Amino acid sequence: MPRQAYVNGRYLPHREAAVHIEDRGYQFADGVYEVVPVFNGALVDEDLHLDRLDRSLGELRIAQPMSRAALKLVSRELMRRNGLSNGFLYMQVTRGVAPRDHKFPTNARPALVMTTRQMKPHSEQVLGEGLKVITVPDQRWDRCDIKSVSLLPNILGKQAAVEAGAYEAWQVDRDGMVTEGTSTNAWIVTQDNKVVTRDATHSILNGITRITLLELIRKEGYELEERCFSVEEAKAAREAFLTSSTSFVLPITQLDAKPIGNGHPGILTGKLRQHYMDYMQSLRKSA
Ligand code: PMP
Repeated sequence: MPRQAYVNGRYLPHREAAVHIEDRGYQFADGVYEVVPVFNGALVDEDLHLDRLDRSLGELRIAQPMSRAALKLVSRELMRRNGLSNGFLYMQVTRGVAPRDHKFPTNARPALVMTTRQMKPHSEQVLGEGLKVITVPDQRWDRCDIKSVSLLPNILGKQAAVEAGAYEAWQVDRDGMVTEGTSTNAWIVTQDNKVVTRDATHSILNGITRITLLELIRKEGYELEERCFSVEEAKAAREAFLTSSTSFVLPITQLDAKPIGNGHPGILTGKLRQHYMDYMQSLRKSA
């Protein structure tokens, strides 16, 4: 059976699924999204993702498209139809369809699209050699904590990375401090083995992988600091890595062409990746 998508109440073949040209997501990027990893049939941190979806919608005053219980049912039905046991579930909610006008429409209903994608395992090369990252100025707005579909600066940053032969671009604020990657959170390990990641303010998206990894780090008793770090500090770090729902935990071995540490994936990074993979492995299949 061809892959299906859920669009405003209907399951449709993915290739034919479409939204209205006056959907405000298309017109104004007036919408939010979530990406939930599915690992061995389990929706990873589903409630944390749905909490963040609620929060993003609330901050933008977009109504909930349906109850949490209904969202969970649709998620499972789409996974079932698509035979998804390892991959990603995408949810996108926009303010709905209305004649083009910047102000909020008075009677639009929020539009919901869900799709799935199969997971491709991370290559042995990436895990063995680590990733290259470049830095770019952070050109985004003051509410990066909202998971908005408005991603132009992120797209431009990622494209700059690809053109430089890198995997990701770390965005840097006006004070020379790293905020986060274009689709990942940024982490370093200092020379005295402290794990450092920026504190979750309006300047970054509070990644769900970040939240779960922070818990694992605390549980395992590693030293941790949630604070800003500069590009210089990152270049002088012992290790660096990134996290996201699609990358999990991946080692970084070059920042702006400067090797991090000894130029090989860090030992602590490897342990943290393993803790995160073990955590996902421990989850029960989503019924
Ligand atoms: N920061 C940005 C800008 C992102 O787009 C993402 C991925 N959605 C992340 C961080 C990581 O968040 P998560 O762990 O929830 O995927």
